[in-house]
This record gives sequence, structure tokens and C-alpha cells, in this order.
Amino acid sequence: MQRIGIGYDIHKLIQGRDLIIGGVKITHEKGLLGHSDADVLIHAIIDAMLGALALDDIGTLFPDTDASYKDADSTILLKKVFKIIKDKGFSIVNIDSNIIAQEPKMMPYIPKMKSALAQILGIKPNDISIKAKTKENLDAVGQKLAIEANAVVLLENKG
Ligand SMILES: [Zn+2]
Repeated sequence: MQRIGIGYDIHKLIQGRDLIIGGVKITHEKGLLGHSDADVLIHAIIDAMLGALALDDIGTLFPDTDASYKDADSTILLKKVFKIIKDKGFSIVNIDSNIIAQEPKMMPYIPKMKSALAQILGIKPNDISIKAKTKENLDAVGQKLAIEANAVVLLENKG
């Protein structure tokens, strides 16, 4: 049986935070604001994985009222959600995603993101697509106030 899920996330860009996307630290004068490390791509992928199985979303699973998730490393949240998927007999077939940011350039970091995510999720870097887009200077993302991500994940249960 195969199940598909979609995920979306957005975080505000502010001074004084590290910029971490796809589990990779990106050199930039601003970072994303959030209760955890605000890894917008991992959050979108987590929601797509949970959505594929019609489970509670990331905000319900890891509430921002829970102090233990303050500045949490999102790769740890991803590992927890992957375990939920695996315990239900599912593995990941492939992931397609977009990072939408006016700046900085994501391209140089994408190979690193793919290998970081592939290692956690038990798939090959070639099973993960990460596309870098801008917002053509339009809206909050285009005005460099925020970064967005979308993800689609296909899960398979061979049982
Ligand atoms: Zn988020």
C-alpha cells in the first residue's frame, strides 16, 4: 500500500539566530525564528510524513508550549517521526520539496541537505528532491522577511 502526504511551513527571518535548513547550517546574517531550531524544510517533510498516514501534525506532536522542544534540533524530531512511520510498517519511497527564499542562495547547500536527510530516513540522496526557488521579490518571502518550504512524501508498506 502506498500513501502520499503534503507538508508546508514558514518561519520569520530575524537577526541573532542561526539559519538551519535541511539539517545544514547556512552562512547568513539572519536565522529563522521558532520554538525549535526552526528548520523549515524538515518541518515541511515531517508534516508530509504525518499527513501521509493522517496522523496528528507537527504542532500537535511537538507543541511549542513544551519546554523540551525549545531550540530543539529538528533532525531529532525527524528521527522520532521516522520511527512512528517505521513502527507502522512504512518506509519512504521518495520526497520532493521546495525551499522558497529570496536570499541566501540555497543551491550550494542542497547536496549536503540531501545526504543529511537520506541518512536519517534510510533512503538514497537520489530519492530526495530539493528545489530552490525565490518569490520574485513578492510578498513576505520576497521581501526577505521569511523562508517557506513545501514537501510531498510518498510512503510504502510492503506488508
Ligand atoms: Zn516550523
